[in-house]
Amino acid sequence: MDLLNTLVDKGLRRELPTREEALAVLSTSDDDLLDVVAAAGKVRRHWFGRRVKLNYLVNLKSGLCPEDCSYCSQRLGSEAGILKYTWLKPDQASDAAAAGVAGGAKRVCLVASGRGPTDRDVDRVSDTIKAIKENNEGVEVCACLGLLSDGQAERLREAGADAYNHNLNTSEATYGDITTTHTYADRVDTVEKAHAAGLSACSGLIAGMGESDEDLVDVVFSLRELDPDSVPVNFLIPFEGTPLAKEWNLTPQRCLRILAMTRFVCPDVEVRIAGGREVHLRTLQPLALHLANSIFLGDYLTSEGQAGKADLEMIADAGFEVEGTDQVTLPDHRAAGGCHDGGGACGSEGGGVCGSGAAPEASEPRTAADARTDLVAVRRRGAGTDLAPNA
Ligand code: SF4
Repeated sequence: MDLLNTLVDKGLRRELPTREEALAVLSTSDDDLLDVVAAAGKVRRHWFGRRVKLNYLVNLKSGLCPEDCSYCSQRLGSEAGILKYTWLKPDQASDAAAAGVAGGAKRVCLVASGRGPTDRDVDRVSDTIKAIKENNEGVEVCACLGLLSDGQAERLREAGADAYNHNLNTSEATYGDITTTHTYADRVDTVEKAHAAGLSACSGLIAGMGESDEDLVDVVFSLRELDPDSVPVNFLIPFEGTPLAKEWNLTPQRCLRILAMTRFVCPDVEVRIAGGREVHLRTLQPLALHLANSIFLGDYLTSEGQAGKADLEMIADAGFEVEGTDQVTLPDHRAAGGCHDGGGACGSEGGGVCGSGAAPEASEPRTAADARTDLVAVRRRGAGTDLAPNA
């Protein structure tokens, strides 16, 4: 297919595809799906070999958020029945992080619900970062605390944070449909603050909120412009008790196309499969490893993932290898820190944006997905409980 040959050539040269080419990936047929995966897989292997980076989430503070992000089980008024607790102490967070590191994770992602941290919160997280770094040699720490005020990114950097996550989630045009308590511009601003402070920016999206193909291409092109080092791709987990509970729009094939499009647009960036991997990719998860070079190990913030052991077996069975702490994730031109044009954005999980229920394109071959509520399990173990974490 000419389209795929063109996209591979551009991916190997780090050249931006056209919007039309990105849209065309999203509307390929099921008959062409394996060709799409093979093409994007060439780009993935060129920049990242067969390595898979494992990341481990620690939910420092769960629920009780005053913001109204429609996709989020921790939002104001959520009836999702998730764990709710206030800040973990540094030693509790460090213990949780150690379980992830022992399971093979090289990055720990410290996430807290809320609009953004107070300066006191930044102090707490700084103590936690130091505790984790002391106890786990070589571990990378990413903080995800919401919108940052002036000076907070610098303080996190001084405390030892390597990265900051804040997702754009959806297109600028539909952002107001999914959240009213902050703006898309607020999110962009936080990613830029993280970049400016010398933190590696992590910023991604949530698919499956009723957005159009154009919205998906918009947000991925915006991310390319912000130039984060990592792009988490969340697939909406439609939690009962949230406004998007009925948004079961994704099929495994659709998820693969979205990941392939993201890889073509952001060829040399860490593309990470985030929340919703097990719920939406299901038995096609191993194919997604040909597109993404990074996943979360074990559980998510408020939902349970498959067993950490199953993650490791899947990676080995698919012919990939877990990236070690002695291996550099990013290609040389990025690892050297000379490749940033812009900034990044907020709190992640199988969250997202929109909820506008925009109709799919007529040419789009995707079909409505069955609601797989049987695959959504609220997290009841690990951080904030007395039970052992999944790692
Ligand atoms: S995504 Fe973050 S800011 Fe939005 S409701 Fe959830 S925890 Fe709050």
